[in-house]
Amino acid sequence: MTRGTVWHPFTQHALEPQPIAIARAEGAWLETANKRRILDGISSWWVITHGHRHPAIVAAVHAEIDRLDQVIFAALTHEPAEKLAEKLVSLAPPGLAHVFYSDSGSTAVEVALKMALGYWRNIGEPRTRIAALEHGYHGDTIGTMSAGARGVFNAAYEPLLFDVVRIPFPHPGREQETLDALDAAAREAPLAAFIAEPLIAGAGGMLIYGAETLAEMKRICERHNALFIADEVMTGWGRTGTLFACTQAGVTPDILCLAKGLTGGSVPLAATLATPRIFEAHYSEDRARTFFHSSSFTANPVCCAAALANLGIWETEPVLERIGKLAALQAEHIAAFETDSRFENPRRIGTIAALDLKVTDSGYLASASLALRAHFLASGVLLRPLGNTIYVMPPYCTTAADLAPVYDAIRSAPDVLTR
Ligand code: PLP
Repeated sequence: MTRGTVWHPFTQHALEPQPIAIARAEGAWLETANKRRILDGISSWWVITHGHRHPAIVAAVHAEIDRLDQVIFAALTHEPAEKLAEKLVSLAPPGLAHVFYSDSGSTAVEVALKMALGYWRNIGEPRTRIAALEHGYHGDTIGTMSAGARGVFNAAYEPLLFDVVRIPFPHPGREQETLDALDAAAREAPLAAFIAEPLIAGAGGMLIYGAETLAEMKRICERHNALFIADEVMTGWGRTGTLFACTQAGVTPDILCLAKGLTGGSVPLAATLATPRIFEAHYSEDRARTFFHSSSFTANPVCCAAALANLGIWETEPVLERIGKLAALQAEHIAAFETDSRFENPRRIGTIAALDLKVTDSGYLASASLALRAHFLASGVLLRPLGNTIYVMPPYCTTAADLAPVYDAIRSAPDVLTR
């Protein structure tokens, strides 16, 4: 309830309490300036994977900043970026061969959209129609807001947004509607690309769909020669139980967007991976076919070193085992809500669990939302419901003892609202 100097993201300063000052973080825990511990139940906006300040990542950041802090990435290159690109290609679904760096999930997707349009223009068949899965969230830049769901978040910017063909979300039992709509859209007029979050729409409400639907959407794109863009900004790096969600469907997208957990969530870095087909369309003696995108900090060496350290952790530590254990804990906790009539739709994929609190006023601005957040914080847990959807997406180092109070807090949440 203050007019501070700092303007916080997605924050209504006139309604929300003074932001809490965090002074330290370690593993799954945040510590306030006055030494109160808060469990990071949302991995600090879905970025932290192994835990805060993993020693290998911290050491890599220290070592790299002592060597090379920052350098322009056009016409110059450096070892961390080169090595990281090789590793990313070796880990990504087979067939992705080129890595373009940027700084955030939004830019990873913005780059993907530009690559798709550049591809069609450069091969002399200028397609510009983009299709996107309903309830999508791809970032907050103009391009990514255009591809994402429309609502209160972007109503003011509507005049700047471009139209996309909206494909209905494959809600359980209604998958065929999605597939038919995608097929019909591609038949109606050529699609440049179809963009989707694989297996789970995150900010759209933690809505889960099956791997077979994802595989079929990709097959439809192939049939119509539309590029498939997988936005794995949230799903990547183990959240859905595998390194990438696309793997569960055996799908190689034409363009893959990665960010958030790429550095274990420690520092900002994003990568957009493309197949040779996309790269080759831009490879030309004609300068007009250049991929025209850059930002000052493209492939910052310290961030690339952090990402390499993250990949090292995946290679040397039992990360998938840890994810499996956390997923099992989440499954157990969320199953307990199946018989609790105050909630509905308990659901889980990998390490992500979600459920909807029954309220009369749903949607993001549900009056419940702020009261819920306050209740969770008072219980020592950082959760940030999406409207009346409560979700838990903790770092992989979260233990059974850490997690139990989170679900106690969720269980007592409806009482707080009726008080
Ligand atoms: N794409 C998806 C699927 C996301 O979940 C997000 C952020 O939550 C983004 C893109 C945007 O990422 P960033 O906030 O790093 O710009």
